[in-house]
Amino acid sequence: MRVNVVLQCTDCKEWNYLTKKSKKNNPERIEMKKYCPRCQKQTLHKEKK
Ligand SMILES: [Zn+2]
Repeated sequence: MRVNVVLQCTDCKEWNYLTKKSKKNNPERIEMKKYCPRCQKQTLHKEKK
């Protein structure tokens, strides 16, 4: 039940991180604060659909 998800910066829309999540534990779209190289700061990243 583990799927690959892409985390996308909500500021510049760059795809910065590839991660895995469990559909069971995280049925919703995940969101997390991550460093974005393009924005050069921590931004909110959301799972890309
Ligand atoms: Zn960014």
